[in-house]
Amino acid sequence: MTTGIPRSKNFNYLFQKLSRSRFRSRFHLGLKEITYIQTKGIVVIKEHAYAFIQQRLAPAQPKNDGKQTPMSGHPVFLAQHATATCCRDCLKKWHAISKGQALKSNEIGYIVDIIMYWIKIQQKPFQPPSIPTC
Ligand SMILES: [Zn+2]
Repeated sequence: MTTGIPRSKNFNYLFQKLSRSRFRSRFHLGLKEITYIQTKGIVVIKEHAYAFIQQRLAPAQPKNDGKQTPMSGHPVFLAQHATATCCRDCLKKWHAISKGQALKSNEIGYIVDIIMYWIKIQQKPFQPPSIPTC
């Protein structure tokens, strides 16, 4: 494990690095996603996050790895791109989680924690959605 950021419960360093990535910092929750989170409740969103990670990232050889996380459609998908937990290459590069082997339960827990942390940050203060352009 020579790449990536040391795993810790304090995500300040990680989130500082992520904010310096133009690609990562492009992602934000819009009114649609925030309304969805409020309707479902944060506990359910966390369950979704677990389910997505289990299905799409946890296998040793995930299906369509590199393209398994849509760019929209669920707050967790946005969170995954924003936090570099979208595919096994990003997990390796940013989080020092090696490829080619199934994710361990502590790794899945760590990924879900990052996703939920980002979602929490995004919800406050509330930012009105920008006017969509073509
Ligand atoms: Zn990725």
